[in-house]
Amino acid sequence: MAEERGANTYCAEHTETPTNVRCSRCDKPVCPACMVQAPVGIRCREHGQAKKLPTYEVPPSVLARAIAAGIGIGIAGGVILGFALPYLWSIPYASLAAIAGLGYLVGEGVSRATNKKRGQSLMILAGACVLAAFAIGSAVAAARTGIQPGLFDLLALGLAVFLAVTRVR
Ligand SMILES: [Zn+2]
Ligand SMILES: [Zn+2]
Repeated sequence: MAEERGANTYCAEHTETPTNVRCSRCDKPVCPACMVQAPVGIRCREHGQAKKLPTYEVPPSVLARAIAAGIGIGIAGGVILGFALPYLWSIPYASLAAIAGLGYLVGEGVSRATNKKRGQSLMILAGACVLAAFAIGSAVAAARTGIQPGLFDLLALGLAVFLAVTRVR
């Protein structure tokens, strides 16, 4: 294969941007905007994903899957939580476990829907879906029993958000 060097080589994605850096796995030329610093050297976006990058940009199609998963689990989980909460409140720590577990499920769902991608947008999404799920659960529980969630449930919510966000951080 003929090797082009220096200013004659252009980024594979930004064909106007000259670069002499290549992905250490596929040898694709990458410019500073697309290069990913991996433990094994410079990588293209596609091959640099193994490393956790908080600023990694999630493509819109992947984000759409994540939103669908987060909202789906959030709504379903929230409704189930709402019906379960009145019973769980009578068992010590049961509501804590249920709310925290729901947070973990939302985070896991978002993570799996995106093929274990990570990033700030996914963290915000996961956190927001947990808050929405809790709001739905509280509303359903309050509608059925007239009881609003207590301080203990809010602490559980904090734990749930933490668990969801750390799944995609
Ligand atoms: Zn590559
Ligand atoms: Zn580029």
